[in-house]
Amino acid sequence: MIETGQFRMSFQAIAGQEHVKRVLQNGLRSGKLSHAYIFSGPAGSGRKRTAMALVKAIYCSGGQDEACGQCLECRKLEHGNQPGLLWIEPDGASIKIEQIRELQKGMAYRSTTNDRKIYVLNEAEKMTVQAANSLLKFLEEPTSDVMAILITENGHALLPTIISRAQWLSFTPMNASRMAEILQEEGLPGSLVLPAVHLTAGVEAARELVSSNWFGEARKVMLQLAQETLANLPSAMISLQKKVIKSDLNQHLGVFIDLWILWLKDMVRLQCGQKDRLLFIDQLDWMERQANSRDSSFWIACMEQAVDMQKRIRFNANGQLTLEKWMIDLRGG
Ligand SMILES: [Zn+2]
Repeated sequence: MIETGQFRMSFQAIAGQEHVKRVLQNGLRSGKLSHAYIFSGPAGSGRKRTAMALVKAIYCSGGQDEACGQCLECRKLEHGNQPGLLWIEPDGASIKIEQIRELQKGMAYRSTTNDRKIYVLNEAEKMTVQAANSLLKFLEEPTSDVMAILITENGHALLPTIISRAQWLSFTPMNASRMAEILQEEGLPGSLVLPAVHLTAGVEAARELVSSNWFGEARKVMLQLAQETLANLPSAMISLQKKVIKSDLNQHLGVFIDLWILWLKDMVRLQCGQKDRLLFIDQLDWMERQANSRDSSFWIACMEQAVDMQKRIRFNANGQLTLEKWMIDLRGG
């Protein structure tokens, strides 16, 4: 079970996703909600918060298309205390058939003051084949008082027979410059906001990244390593060891390399004279000098290598060796 209190659970608090909100709030007003939904879209685009806003509005005894936030049902949900709701997360790498069986039992036994029973499957694409088949049978049963919300990054990875039994709602990543505007108006520093909005799909996720205690450090160290690699490779190798491999950043290698890829995109932009679209604008002087000391094919090749490195690290390649090899390539040209 998740801590439901971690979400601000109202449609109004969700930035963007106007289409999704309109469909669901129309359904709430007309009393014609689907018995199953697929929320498909990238992490950070507001899928979980929308699920909670929908669930809360359904249970609320006050509001109609938006929960009142005052009544007993609203407060029960805010305290993770709504017995009609089951929230399922993957158990390790997958959602297993035992979890779907538990879910079916749970739904059958649950009798609450409110008739509605709702279950949410987060990362639904991680269902095993057996789990998915078991869920399909459950979806086929004509039980009117159970609602399913399947949250997934890739709805197309679900069984077509599941897709055909649910209403599909697409969550689109929010426009990066709009996100940057919102966050900078809140007073967050542009030097962190600009890369963050390119690494996330929604305002909440970007704000969380900017506010995390390691993201600023990741940006600083990436810039230092890039500079050192081009100037003095042996000293860059020592910094890599000290500031990445043997530090907390080791836990965030994925984002660290993402930052490096964004930096390379900036180098390509500088090569093409597009200064106005830079993400690392406060580093303009040295970056411009370096960018123009090579041709654009060099920077594009570096970017391809970095994307490849990212994949290898995702598949558990040794972070240090992979990064060292990449730095040698970047130096070599
Ligand atoms: Zn309420």
